[in-house]
Amino acid sequence: MKTKIVDLLQSKAFGTTVNVKGWVRTRRGNKAVNFVALNDGSTINNIQIVIDIEKFGEEYLKPITTGACINVTGLLVESQGQGQSAEIQAQEIEIYGTADPAVYPLQKKGHTLEFLREIAHLRPRTNTFGAIFRIRHHMAYAIHKFFNDKGFFYFHTPILTGSDAEGAGSMFQATTLNLNSLPKTEDGKIDYKEDFFGKMTNLTVSGQLEGELGAMALGEIYTFGPTFRAENSNTPRHLAEFWMIEPEMAFYEIKENMDLAEEFLQYLIKYALEHCKDDIDFLCNMYDKELVDRLNFVVSNKFVRLTYTEGVKILEASSKKFEYPVFWGADLQSEHERYLVEEHFKCPVILTDYPKEIKSFYMKQNNDNKTVRAMDVLFPKIGEIIGGSQREENYEKLMNRVNELDMKTETLWWYLETRKFGTAPHSGFGLGFERLILFITGMSNIRDVIPFPRTPNNAEF
Ligand code: ATP
Ligand code: MN
Repeated sequence: MKTKIVDLLQSKAFGTTVNVKGWVRTRRGNKAVNFVALNDGSTINNIQIVIDIEKFGEEYLKPITTGACINVTGLLVESQGQGQSAEIQAQEIEIYGTADPAVYPLQKKGHTLEFLREIAHLRPRTNTFGAIFRIRHHMAYAIHKFFNDKGFFYFHTPILTGSDAEGAGSMFQATTLNLNSLPKTEDGKIDYKEDFFGKMTNLTVSGQLEGELGAMALGEIYTFGPTFRAENSNTPRHLAEFWMIEPEMAFYEIKENMDLAEEFLQYLIKYALEHCKDDIDFLCNMYDKELVDRLNFVVSNKFVRLTYTEGVKILEASSKKFEYPVFWGADLQSEHERYLVEEHFKCPVILTDYPKEIKSFYMKQNNDNKTVRAMDVLFPKIGEIIGGSQREENYEKLMNRVNELDMKTETLWWYLETRKFGTAPHSGFGLGFERLILFITGMSNIRDVIPFPRTPNNAEF
């Protein structure tokens, strides 16, 4: 029976026979004894396999090079070496798969993150990406745990959608029409009646609108799924396919919404510090010496809350030269968000009450007629990590905004009906999963925190 390396390294069952299977990180040694550092992905730490050369023969051991996969049975013994508790004295070694050093791209020497992106099929085998993807898993689990413990229900919203979540981003169209010979209506437009759903459909940019329908029945729900944005923004913080967590809560006003967002983020970071220590320490050492301090800081300090208007005043008063101009009404750029967080407050910030022109139609309108109850949570190194709002629950007010913006209501009628039948104050937000993982791993490019990133001109693997 195979044992995972993570368990063997904690085991004190010295003298028993164990079996491990994994990939060779390194092999070194002399004419008499070889040491293989073996990793099976269960932990960043390797177990040392001690091989008596005479027992197996030099020729047999030859293919055991970096990247090869082997199956080892042997005696678990207390390690003499420093920094490891247990090692294995090999009794049987089966070679599952070789990795010819002449062509295997992941040799022992360090590789750049850019190079590793080109070999995304192999990069999970590196220490760095093993650490990142284990953390990603633990965060996904912690998200479900957080909401489940609070009595929220996981509500599945569609990925194929006939509505466009009101311009959250440009969409990828989903069609089965033959692009080489499109059916046309009499006035020359594409005839979507012939398409699979009998209408135009797209991949979702957000589950929020459907999420609200869930909250208006189940009370507190969350979605956690893939979202797609065809924005041609080649930035270190945008993907064309990313995962989003969107809680939606009946009877929450903006204040409770902010409280939940803050509690949620602090819970997740704390969970990571407690459950992913080895991996975070590794990333901290390798890439970002301030990572652990930054995580601890965010967990133990209250987020600063202020309005967009106050934020803009601070930005206008600063002597910093920004690439994009700041004025009341401007959509804040990440340089502005990061100035507030990293230089002015030195603390995560929640900005509220944005000008209605730069926010979505569904946000609750304030009495000033100028701003809406939006909230963005801004983080060091990231900028916006969460975007949310209290929703407009008043049918007339919502319809006024819909008409002002000249929106078509035929794909939205079902959403608008929630305000007709048993409407209630409610709120929600969206957390970009990869932005969270960026923050927790200290990586600086979003392409490095998802196994197979999709960005403009890049859908390999
Ligand atoms: P940004 O201004 O950074 O482009 P946004 O305002 O378009 O983001 P929202 O529509 O508010 O984003 O989406 C909610 C959250 O989803 C954001 O706070 C962010 O964490 C994440 N997010 C948005 N767009 C992307 C993307 N293209 N790739 C990865 N995460 C994203
Ligand atoms: Mn936003």
